[in-house]
Amino acid sequence: MIEIVRVSVENEMDLTLAYKKSIKAAELTGLSMSTQTAFATAVSEVCREIIDKTHDGLALIYIALSGERYHLGARITYTEDPVMGKLEEGIQYAKKLVPVFKHTMHQGIGTVELNISIPRACSMNNQKINAVKAFFAHLEPTTPYEELRQKNMELYQINEQSELALRQAEYLIEKKNEFLTVASHELKTPLTILRAYTQMALKSDCSPTALSHLRKVDMQALKLQAMMQQLLDISKIETGVADYNKEEVNFSSYIDDLADLIRKLIPEHPLEISADTVLISIDKLRIEQVIMNIAGNAAKYSDSGSAIHFSTHINTEGEIQVSVKDEGIGMSPEELNKVFAKFYRVEDIATSYSGLGMGLYISAKIIQGHGGRIWVESIVGEGSTFFFTLPI
Ligand code: ADP
Repeated sequence: MIEIVRVSVENEMDLTLAYKKSIKAAELTGLSMSTQTAFATAVSEVCREIIDKTHDGLALIYIALSGERYHLGARITYTEDPVMGKLEEGIQYAKKLVPVFKHTMHQGIGTVELNISIPRACSMNNQKINAVKAFFAHLEPTTPYEELRQKNMELYQINEQSELALRQAEYLIEKKNEFLTVASHELKTPLTILRAYTQMALKSDCSPTALSHLRKVDMQALKLQAMMQQLLDISKIETGVADYNKEEVNFSSYIDDLADLIRKLIPEHPLEISADTVLISIDKLRIEQVIMNIAGNAAKYSDSGSAIHFSTHINTEGEIQVSVKDEGIGMSPEELNKVFAKFYRVEDIATSYSGLGMGLYISAKIIQGHGGRIWVESIVGEGSTFFFTLPI
């Protein structure tokens, strides 16, 4: 089915347009005068009934190939108004004018489909259909009302296309999330087994060289595990199943414990800490994930030996404010807002530092899930400071 032209069906002026456009379509198709009139009258009779009995309708004139025969048709849809009742008289009359006429109703949306076959003598083909279509596409409106309608119709079509594109994109995102969840789940199991055996082998009696190799295997498996977890987190966040097990913690002891962990994991960076004592309700593991990610980045994107300053205090708005400051490569002002986007990595450094651009996206979602804010300040070549807040 190739759409030739569409007309909205709401008032008497639309009725005139529906008649004019259907008769023109029939004329361009090559139908005889009497068939042109029959087709256009059938269309406008249905439209009249729709205008009388409902609030909105849409007539779509088309050419379709069925078997070996081309047809000129109209599909007129409307929303049924229960108060005004069913379409009757106009429909009965229109039915007699065209050979094919169907009226269906589904969930309050009525559809009238009518068509007329185009004789072989009219030599219909794709080229001719395109020419008819082009005629309507380039038709200049003759009245201001027609111009307004035409613009409206164009907007309606753009809207329809964007809705379709949006639905397709949503479908693809859904499929991608499904794949991420299944793939990361499936990959997690062998990785856990691999790590368990590596840990066992590390405790066994083997040569120093073998031990050093095993430690490397374990470190890489750990990295893989962290990445798998990030993929799982992303799919959880996007499918809306991420939930937070909040509990009350003393924030300064919590930070002290974390600092010990950070010192163990990144011993090559001296860590300076200052923290206020306050009770706060958080998901300990998720906030740990945020802090470890920011601290891990601070170490990754700065020279070994440079300090990382870690501080928490209660800000003027009465929230806990955490900051992690490094003396690393920094970022340009344009990059600052982008780093929290999914899979975003600063282009210039992407080849020199490994990473997937997931950590800050997940961190931002976790902080938002706790009702806080996250941002970064940075100067290229001098370092970056990541901040986040948590309501008390
Ligand atoms: P990853 O580090 O795995 O690429 P992230 O989401 O944690 O992913 O970070 C996104 C990007 O933000 C990084 O690729 C990097 O370009 C930039 N970035 C993050 N932290 C820092 C930092 N401390 N200093 C400089 N750039 C950073």
